[in-house]
Amino acid sequence: MINDPKIQLTRETFGNIPPWSVTAFYIIAIASVLIFFWGVWRRWKLWKQGKPISIRKILLGNYQRLKPRLGRLFKEGLGQKRVRGRGLASWAHIMMFVGFIVLFLGTTLLEIDHLATKISEQFHFHHGWYYVIYEATLDIFGLLFILGISLFAWRRMRRPNSVGHRASDWTVLGLFLGIGVSGYFVEALRILWDQPKGLALWCSPIGALLAKPFSSMSETTSRSAHLIVWWAHSLMVFGFFAMIPFTRLLHFITGPMNLFFAEPSLGKLKPITIEEIEETGIVGVSEIPHLDQQQLLSLDSCMECGRCEEACPAFASGKPLSPKVVVQDLKGLMEATANGESVKLHGDTIQEETVWSCTSCNACVTACPVRVDPLGLLFDLRRDRAAEGALAGSAANSMRQMQTKGNPWGFPQEERLAWANGLDVQLASNKPDFEILWWVGCAGSFDRRAQKVTRAIAKLLIKAEVNFAVLGPNECCTGDSARRLGDEFLFQELAEKNHSTLKQHGVRKILTQCPHCLNSLSNDYPQFGDQFEVVHHTEFLQQLIDDNKLSSPNDSDSVTYHDPCYLARVNGIHQSPRDLLGNNINEMKRHREKTFCCGAGGGRMWMEEEADQRVSVLRAKEAIETNAKTVAVGCPFCLTMMTDGVKSCDSKAEVEDVAENLVKRLGL
Ligand code: SF4
Ligand code: SF4
Repeated sequence: MINDPKIQLTRETFGNIPPWSVTAFYIIAIASVLIFFWGVWRRWKLWKQGKPISIRKILLGNYQRLKPRLGRLFKEGLGQKRVRGRGLASWAHIMMFVGFIVLFLGTTLLEIDHLATKISEQFHFHHGWYYVIYEATLDIFGLLFILGISLFAWRRMRRPNSVGHRASDWTVLGLFLGIGVSGYFVEALRILWDQPKGLALWCSPIGALLAKPFSSMSETTSRSAHLIVWWAHSLMVFGFFAMIPFTRLLHFITGPMNLFFAEPSLGKLKPITIEEIEETGIVGVSEIPHLDQQQLLSLDSCMECGRCEEACPAFASGKPLSPKVVVQDLKGLMEATANGESVKLHGDTIQEETVWSCTSCNACVTACPVRVDPLGLLFDLRRDRAAEGALAGSAANSMRQMQTKGNPWGFPQEERLAWANGLDVQLASNKPDFEILWWVGCAGSFDRRAQKVTRAIAKLLIKAEVNFAVLGPNECCTGDSARRLGDEFLFQELAEKNHSTLKQHGVRKILTQCPHCLNSLSNDYPQFGDQFEVVHHTEFLQQLIDDNKLSSPNDSDSVTYHDPCYLARVNGIHQSPRDLLGNNINEMKRHREKTFCCGAGGGRMWMEEEADQRVSVLRAKEAIETNAKTVAVGCPFCLTMMTDGVKSCDSKAEVEDVAENLVKRLGL
């Protein structure tokens, strides 16, 4: 049939559509495009209120910097990388997205052919094999589109709590379904008079099947019905287009834009400089225009999918924080500000307790499919509160101790090396030829329980004859908690002090047992000076075994491993602790990058917690459910939290650091 020279492999673009309809079609099309651009312009004005970002520099600057942005656009936008891995919701989105893109491109190509043919017949390309493949492709992808919408509608009917629900969502889904289904009917009714059946089955199998029940219809009736359905289909398409900036569909535009403009923020914070404050008088965010333009754009990218909320330990433990709600609240305030309303950000809309509830676990940052960064917003809100002196209680006290004594507990610095009693541990000042500097950290130096971990690591390093040294009384807190609690200047003060100590000893490589120190030294410190090679003790110990400097131990008894957020999620270190623990690991449901916080990060370590709102208890329950005898950790904060959590659950499981576990198994 396809090879029959008598059969024309093409179709007229506006076949059966009278000239007045074609004219009206274009008038309505232009109107819907104008409404679309008007809507986008209104949103643009909202984003413009923010602190400027240099779009010109981003677009026209260094290609090396542009490359990762384009990569994100392709992989995460077109490739839907961050949408995947969530079962039904992911499949529904991917089907709808792919179907939509193919139908949109197909319609655009058809219009190009139509306009090109108007210029000259020789530009007509919608014929022959191209035509057959084009029609068949659109037919199949249309089905994918309808399937995706149906799955979405079914999911929404089950009303998952974390997903935002608005009446307009049903209008949008109904419209999409209407467009998909009416498209097939337009095709089926056209096939009745326009195409031999055999050819229709090749080009438009679904349209041809749909045409079957109408085969007895007269040509006049089918042409009239075709015109009516064609109009219904066209009006729905124009309606959809005009609605984009006014509904959740806005993320069609803002999502890819945000993927492109967002700066990767995992483990990083934007520094504030004294010059900036002198110029603006602003620390952090207390009004909407204090956010930058990309942050405001990101508020409009949020489609209330609820992934951040589902991942949030603060929300799960009943604290007054949902990252989704923070984003939506700020979005509401952004709109209100543009309407000339005087809005107060702190207090009225965003409560003090909300701002301090965050553990800075970064789960929301990695969960968001369009790279909205609720944590970055919370950090900015915290900076304002910290500058206003709103941080009170035990956390404020710890910050004071950090400033005056160099550690959050307020112990004398001279006692930093007390843990090493009886061990051959040298100070960097006495051993200038050391190869690696061991950054013990405040917890490892002063906390009674964490000191045992420090001693275990020391034994392993000594056994492996590692040429290491420590700073002892010259080591100060890295300031990680201060920075994440919003006190940027205390952090910078401590960072400057530590930088100068590290420089004085010519340090290039640092070993640390605390993921927060690791993150601060490798992600925060380079913003103010040198970049160091920083390794976590689990990586380092595994390397010692690989290099035969430590013997390979037997497998551990049944053990579960709690991945610290700043180790696994933020810095991607999750295999070496497992290698050290051996083959008897009972994994928790949430592990590796998808780990669930212990509750200590973001300065929460220094805050009191209500007994019924402890994140540590939730995590301990997950650990206990594995029936493992031991809960292994790789962080001194996690050690404290998980020990408390396990105790609260009346479990007999033992909580220990991976290094302690290794020392036991090696019989040291
Ligand atoms: S960083 Fe963690 S605790 Fe904070 S809002 Fe995000 S998910 Fe919640
Ligand atoms: S911030 Fe991101 S993850 Fe959270 S609801 Fe919005 S789009 Fe979803």
